[in-house]
Amino acid sequence: MATKALNIKNLNKSFGETHVLKDVSVSINKGDFLVLVGPSGCGKSTLLNCIAGLEEISSGILEISGRDVVALSPRERDIAMVFQSYALYPTMSIRENIEFGMKIRSVPKEEINTQVLRVATLLQIEHLLDRRPGQLSGGQRQRVAMGRALVREPALFLFDEPLSNLDAKLRMEMRAEIKQMHAKTGTTIVYVTHDQIEAMTMATNIVVMKDGVIQQVGTPDEIYRHPANTFVADFMGAPP
Ligand code: ADP
Ligand code: MG
Repeated sequence: MATKALNIKNLNKSFGETHVLKDVSVSINKGDFLVLVGPSGCGKSTLLNCIAGLEEISSGILEISGRDVVALSPRERDIAMVFQSYALYPTMSIRENIEFGMKIRSVPKEEINTQVLRVATLLQIEHLLDRRPGQLSGGQRQRVAMGRALVREPALFLFDEPLSNLDAKLRMEMRAEIKQMHAKTGTTIVYVTHDQIEAMTMATNIVVMKDGVIQQVGTPDEIYRHPANTFVADFMGAPP
């Protein structure tokens, strides 16, 4: 059996007395675009933070590319994360923002230039490299934040509601760009949203969660046509 890009088994997470994630099990293959969807407060960010190593898990198995990462720091996990609030360094140029992570890892200058050009072309931000974040629109800044994560070529890309601060038109454009980026690079993505349409239009696989319990795992088509229960049917929109 091929190694799973991400393998989670019976993962539990509590904050003190509060049991937030309850026996969560899900696994995905390399190149999958997994969308984790559910109402606000159901535990989506907590699960993503556990995968990233920003939160310790209480119990369970957590493997990235076949490697047990439970004891590893975020840096050691071969992941990149894009949040809803994408903090760019305001005094640095866009090029410097994208280069920063590679510079602190002492990546050779030639390699840095190659990588910056690669992601700038992919995300169509070549013409913005000499500007500063304050001179960019929200959508452009979001693309830079993605570029900064992409230069790392991580095994796993984690998105936590990256588009929720954008207006509806930009959100649609960015959805298309993220999908295109996925198609072009074949990267593996876990994408958190509370937006059903985003889930249906972007995912290769969907996980529907409620109160820290996975309700269903399936393709968008399976979830839509054969919802596992009334919660999934109501939340995702019942078939006509
Ligand atoms: P979502 O991202 O789906 O909106 P979260 O993962 O942020 O949900 O939160 C899930 C639950 O865990 C919520 O009830 C929230 O209050 C709780 N929670 C999240 N982080 C902490 C924390 N650091 N300490 C205590 N409770 C937390
Ligand atoms: Mg959240």
